[in-house]
Amino acid sequence: MGRVALVTGGSRGIGEAISKKLQADGYTVAATYAGNDEAAAKFTEETGIKTYKWNVADYDSSKEGLAQVEADLGPIEVVVANAGITRDAPFHKMTPEQWHQVIDTNLTGVFNTVHPIWPGMRERKFGRVIVISSINGQKGQFAQVNYAATKAGDLGIVKSLAQEGARAGITANAICPGYIATEMVMAVPEKVRDSIISQIPAGRLGEPEEIARCVAFLASDESGFINGSTISANGAQFFV
Ligand code: NDP
Repeated sequence: MGRVALVTGGSRGIGEAISKKLQADGYTVAATYAGNDEAAAKFTEETGIKTYKWNVADYDSSKEGLAQVEADLGPIEVVVANAGITRDAPFHKMTPEQWHQVIDTNLTGVFNTVHPIWPGMRERKFGRVIVISSINGQKGQFAQVNYAATKAGDLGIVKSLAQEGARAGITANAICPGYIATEMVMAVPEKVRDSIISQIPAGRLGEPEEIARCVAFLASDESGFINGSTISANGAQFFV
């Protein structure tokens, strides 16, 4: 059996592609989700990958869920913090609730996902932490003060974890996807989507599998010297 990999939000969208790629590469994969039981059941039926339901925003639930995964499958050696949400609004209309929901899920959620399993990685002298950030954490985005703050925060998290984990054989890296063809993006009106695509030099949206390939690269045993890095995968949609 291969190393155990955990993917939060791993049953839909980009996370689904990551789970499938890691499985294809020989990892024993666990995928978490928040509440979409139907999508999770369909995913397990199709892939045989076990799913676990908990809210990444809650530390105790995360700790309990992670312990259950390790009891079922063995120590988690690769963790992909992918679960994320948006609650967009221009800043003058953004409510404290919208701010806190996104911070709690996207930023505190990363802490809650990595912190409980970090001591085990240190003891075993191996770990791969991969956080799915966003181009909007690199460049900011209208109506996404909350989301951009969390995604920029991800970059600070991995750079710091990289320094703490390096001697213990642990790497921590981030991937910043540009616009990817998931349900979220495909649900926006065609006109808006066309205007998004017109800003991407590649002339198309990215595919979830293209992000999954970045994860597989960072997860591998051979990537041990790549630590604290950010991979941008955005079709040359550079930012200033
Ligand atoms: P989706 O909305 O398609 O999927 C999100 C996943 O996260 C779902 O599995 C969902 O569970 C899970 N999730 C959401 N909230 C929680 C929570 N509180 N606890 C546990 N799980 C949760 O998102 P995408 O695939 O589009 O995005 C994945 C990641 O990539 C996110 O971090 C996003 O910010 C980032 N990203 C996406 C881009 C894009 O263009 N799509 C671009 C740049 C970054 P459930 O299925 O139960 O709802």
